[in-house]
Amino acid sequence: MPSPRSPRKPERTHGDGGDPPWGSLDFDLAPFLVIWETTQACDLACKHCRAEARPDRDPDELTTAEAKKLLADVRRFGPIVFVFSGGDCLKRPDIVELVRYGHDLGLRMAATPATTPLASRETIADLKGAGLARLAVSLDGSHPGIHDAFRQVDGSFQHGLRILREARDLGLSTQVNTVIGRHNLDDIDALADLMSEVGIVFWEVFFLVPVGRARPEDVAGAEAFEDVFHRLYELSKTAPFDIKATAAPQYNRVVVQRKVEERRAGRAGDTDVLTEGAGYSMADGIGRARNVNDGDGFLFVSHTGEFFPSGFLPLSAGNVRSHDLVETYRDSTLFRELRDRELLKGKCSVCEYRPLCGGSRARAYAVTGDPLEAEPYCAHVPLRYRRMVEAGEALPVSEYFRERMLKHGVPLPVQSG
Ligand code: SF4
Repeated sequence: MPSPRSPRKPERTHGDGGDPPWGSLDFDLAPFLVIWETTQACDLACKHCRAEARPDRDPDELTTAEAKKLLADVRRFGPIVFVFSGGDCLKRPDIVELVRYGHDLGLRMAATPATTPLASRETIADLKGAGLARLAVSLDGSHPGIHDAFRQVDGSFQHGLRILREARDLGLSTQVNTVIGRHNLDDIDALADLMSEVGIVFWEVFFLVPVGRARPEDVAGAEAFEDVFHRLYELSKTAPFDIKATAAPQYNRVVVQRKVEERRAGRAGDTDVLTEGAGYSMADGIGRARNVNDGDGFLFVSHTGEFFPSGFLPLSAGNVRSHDLVETYRDSTLFRELRDRELLKGKCSVCEYRPLCGGSRARAYAVTGDPLEAEPYCAHVPLRYRRMVEAGEALPVSEYFRERMLKHGVPLPVQSG
């Protein structure tokens, strides 16, 4: 598909002449963050695992030398955020060496080890000593009954709490990642209380995308998403940590809608929760960026070096072994089209919130097979789209998605609008 975008911009990075403020990063030039799936090996067996992780390492994983090349290539974008993810990144014996290498290059580094005994106090200390800025663990419930059932290993919840406590004791800032699905919709307030107790700086809330081991029926509906967005917005005003919704740019729309309501009622505050929250997550230099979407401010590198727009959008634009990372992000058709919101389809194409939302490209792809389709799990129906339906120029939202899901072979009840 040809892209109507302007010609390639000159070689610049986010680091030239000092870092721009987070809200003004040019995602045509460089992503805000790169996540590397260091390995798919993991001792957990999470029900919704994107990576469909397994106990042993893939012999085709990037070698230490290839991983160092990846880090050096990422540094060409500037001193951006780099996350060692997985699987369990601690399954790689060279992880501390790679963190040190990335730190020496000037990258801002975070890691997301699995909640297992492998994340010992000694290893956490080694990671911090090598230059890690933040450690993130997954907690999917406020108690073992939810979390351990989801991760399918008893004791995982307690290891998560232990890792957070030990990291904090060692002076490392901490983050919790939570996958929101039908399994924990009623546990969000209790989870938020737990986040406050464990002293994190950042709570990253993932909205399920039906890829890997996640099934379509595990995804909560658009109205349930909407309810969670409003609860997160309320929490963001008082929580002693910043909150970000991942795979759910519709949260940006809800934030703006709530701010407009509050302004009209004379209750607007100064905090920009889209970029900084209360600023807790800025302390370790990692922070957050406005309006990151798949391939647009974000790049995911698989354990074998494939370049994906996100970990939930399995379309490859190249491989670190054979393609230039920076050129691929800036110039590949896939990444350029994902950044071009003029190309969005369906109700997202006429939505007034398109510049700050754009819908999850990964979820659109998972449900319809087209990464430029409308977000299937958004409760908002733009006024222009309603008028198009009234004029007979567009299908009602439910019919629109039913048609595309059937074509793509997804046996889903329609969730959107
Ligand atoms: S219709 Fe699309 S662009 Fe508009 S708020 Fe929903 S997901 Fe975002």
